[in-house]
Amino acid sequence: MFIDQVKLYGVFGDPVAHSLSPHFQNEAFKLLGVNGLYLKFRITAEQLPAAIAAVRCLEFGGVNITIPHKEAVTPYLDRLEGDAKLTGSVNTILRRDDELIGYSTDGEGFLLSLRHQAGFEPRGKKVILLGVGGAARALAFRLVQEGIAALYLVGRDREKTERLCQALREKTGFSAEAVLFGTSRLKMIAAQAGLVVNTTPLGMYPETKLFPPFPLEDCPRDCLVCDLIYHPLTTTFLRRAGALKLPTLSGLGMLVYQGILACQIWTGLTPPFSPLYQLLEGILQQEEQ
Ligand code: NAP
Repeated sequence: MFIDQVKLYGVFGDPVAHSLSPHFQNEAFKLLGVNGLYLKFRITAEQLPAAIAAVRCLEFGGVNITIPHKEAVTPYLDRLEGDAKLTGSVNTILRRDDELIGYSTDGEGFLLSLRHQAGFEPRGKKVILLGVGGAARALAFRLVQEGIAALYLVGRDREKTERLCQALREKTGFSAEAVLFGTSRLKMIAAQAGLVVNTTPLGMYPETKLFPPFPLEDCPRDCLVCDLIYHPLTTTFLRRAGALKLPTLSGLGMLVYQGILACQIWTGLTPPFSPLYQLLEGILQQEEQ
């Protein structure tokens, strides 16, 4: 690395202490021969405008944006591209000359993991998303664009769940159905599902015994069950699905593909999947011991 020519990258969020992105991106830069340095920055809501101004004046190559700034950051950018424009949520910023451009790679990262890791094609499938937060929103908008047959959004708050259905309808014309956790409707939709995705944090380290209340036993045998959680690598939800002999997919692939997409946006180069997946898997396995 030539320190006088190094380009800075980073992740802005609060908290960011446990972010795997510096491990990922610094290894990706090394594999690609890119002279970049990626750091994590704990940025509070009050500090966000100054931090984004620093991206311009310190001439960062780009940054990732994580909880809780994905929506709050949009007014400080010059324009949004692709899914970010549709969802109003940004997780990757590219600085090109004086311009800051916002992207969202959540939905695309999930799709790449679905297709390449699970060999699953969502077109024509009935999809159930458990949870209606930021990740569910990104997945819902992306999956609708991929031509799914039906979408059920399962939340614990009726108003919030219906708000997401309404946003989807207004922006894409697609009618999703709002379903509440704990209702008998869940058994009926489970019986027709081709894809079920946990987008709630239920089961995430350290509360690994938790899982979303969903009748997996009613799903067809070929229904793919995904969890966006990657810590632990195999959640209780996925373990339960595995015990029922349903195919499963963890959140680690989505995380890795998002890192690859961010690196592509910044450098125009595509880092390889396998060594980066193994790097993060190794770090997580060590933490789980
Ligand atoms: P978020 O915006 O906070 O949304 C979380 C959703 O889960 C909300 O709808 C929330 O309900 C719901 N929820 C939380 N506790 C619940 C409970 N006890 N019962 C029922 N619903 C509950 O979070 P997010 O950004 O979407 O992230 C969600 C998860 O996805 C996290 O575990 C995150 O680590 C993971 N994720 C992974 C990747 C990846 O690359 N693998 C990417 C993004 C996110 P309310 O709406 O009622 O509050």
